Amino acid sequence: MKINRINFNQGISISDIKINDKPQNRFAGLDEQPVQLTNISKTDVLNTPSQKPVENSAVSNFPNWIMPAHGRLSSAYGWRIHPIQKTRKWHNGIDIANNTGTEIKAPAAGHVYYVGYENNYNGNTIRIDHGIVNGVKVESVYIHLQGFNVSRGHDVKQGQVIGFMGSTGNSTGPHLHVSIYEGKRGNDVNPFKYIDKSKY
Ligand SMILES: [Zn+2]
Repeated sequence: MKINRINFNQGISISDIKINDKPQNRFAGLDEQPVQLTNISKTDVLNTPSQKPVENSAVSNFPNWIMPAHGRLSSAYGWRIHPIQKTRKWHNGIDIANNTGTEIKAPAAGHVYYVGYENNYNGNTIRIDHGIVNGVKVESVYIHLQGFNVSRGHDVKQGQVIGFMGSTGNSTGPHLHVSIYEGKRGNDVNPFKYIDKSKY
């Protein structure tokens, strides 16, 4: 498995990629249907029309973040029928459902740069800047929170409790929505590119 360069400039096109010598048309409909790649632990990297190239170095050290909360993975990253609007929408993160008040932990160290009620969609929100991770600027966001355990400007460690699960904003029940963004433009990526599902 070797990725030299991935180019997503126009919709989705992938060049210079060889996966077990299978033809490139394997990737037709890439954004509709997640592909299963062998010999790569970061299948998520290819699941979405990311705007930026994927570097080998960025793949090799992931994932080492912990899960931000205990609970049921109630919605995956990718296309879904929106539970309230009933239309097909891009879900730019993952949802973890559990009881109101469930602790939410920082999955990795970072600098808290926003804490507050952001808008009627996100509700109570925390945003963390994780700095440069393997050459890429990375940020994470936690929405629909019941309450907060940090303030803006705090530096947090991995595993530190930052807030509590709730259902504020546009939400059908208590859950945490987590998104992870890369680069200056803040392109969403599958959080499991960074988070190890088995680590808490
Ligand atoms: Zn969500």
